[in-house]
Amino acid sequence: MALIVQKYGGTSVGNTERIKNVARRVAKYRAQGDQVVVVVSAMSGVTDGLIKLAKDITLLPSEREMDMLLATGEQQTIALAAIALHSLGLPAVSLTGAQAGIVTDGVHTKAKIQNITPSEVHKLLDAGNVVIVAGFQGQTPEGAITTLGRGGSDLTAIALAAALKADLCQIYTDVDGVYTADPRIVPAARKIPEIAYDEMLELAGSGAKVMQLRSVEFAKKFNVVFEVRSSLNDNPGTIVKEETNSMENVVVRGVSFDKNQAKITLFGVPDQPGRAARIFRALSDAAINVDMIVQNASHGGGVPATDLSFTVDKPDLAKASHVIDGLKATVGFKETVADENIGKLSIVGVGMRSHSGVAARMFDVLAHEGVNIGMISTSEIKISVIIELSKGEQAMRALHKAFLE
Ligand code: ASP
Ligand code: MG
Repeated sequence: MALIVQKYGGTSVGNTERIKNVARRVAKYRAQGDQVVVVVSAMSGVTDGLIKLAKDITLLPSEREMDMLLATGEQQTIALAAIALHSLGLPAVSLTGAQAGIVTDGVHTKAKIQNITPSEVHKLLDAGNVVIVAGFQGQTPEGAITTLGRGGSDLTAIALAAALKADLCQIYTDVDGVYTADPRIVPAARKIPEIAYDEMLELAGSGAKVMQLRSVEFAKKFNVVFEVRSSLNDNPGTIVKEETNSMENVVVRGVSFDKNQAKITLFGVPDQPGRAARIFRALSDAAINVDMIVQNASHGGGVPATDLSFTVDKPDLAKASHVIDGLKATVGFKETVADENIGKLSIVGVGMRSHSGVAARMFDVLAHEGVNIGMISTSEIKISVIIELSKGEQAMRALHKAFLE
């Protein structure tokens, strides 16, 4: 007998037919004698719909009230899932995040879990129930309802699995698992049977979004092994876990392309201490996330100058350009160019630690495809380059062919 936490995302509970399917799947595990805790998201579109209702009234609704509102989405699904299990003759009880013992800090709309006391969950499981918990929500020690940030039901599931010391944590979604590349772009992409937390984090940070990043970080910290799999079939999914020695045999685990990046270049920045600090302090004060930064060698006589490029999330480009324009006099650069037509191409794999020549091979492949490299950044297990947006898909296919086929 195992204790299993299963999380079903918005599309997996997108209508009553799908909710009945969830109940059937849970019933199969119960029939094997397993104890099951089910975590559900709001039905697909519900959270967005609730946000829209509030924004129809005011563009700046109170964050406390947004949590009160958004938490209702998941509460619909827990009740419907319990009703679906009852109709199959199975005892089931739904619990809000608070009832399940999930305590968070008071940062409304992006609260952090502080601790979980799942005594009620244990009690109900021991009495033979399937326990259905509302994802994405918790409660402060003072009793205010909070939510965990968009996509936060993943975090509820991983955190509950850790608190309950579950034997298995399954994240059911609308894809079969984590792929070596987006199969819509790279037809030869394959499902990855096993992936290390760090690889999953780097791939997610590179635009391959299967799960909420924070929940993978949490899983890594508490060593929660989980499986990402589809609720639409019975195929085995991708196991996400601590790195093992054999994982290093594969040099590249996956290829990704993040179209959500834009580049700003400042020409003629005086090459003197404090200029970069001023630029990036101003961006950070404006809550703009900077990803890659490249500074060129100094050029020119007199006060030497340099060119500086960096990337930001595409939606932040206008705001970032505005901040930079405001610095022209104090920082003293000559001109700026913003480029939206770029993307970040990455290869990721823990095997890069023990294999050499990976970057050279990547750049060879790109050269052969006639793809120009604008910026480069590396970590121990990732190489990323900024390239022209329109070359992204071709470059992905070429890299996949070179490293993964
Ligand atoms: N319903 C929430 C959202 O749409 C949480 C989740 O689905 O994980 O972001
Ligand atoms: Mg969702």
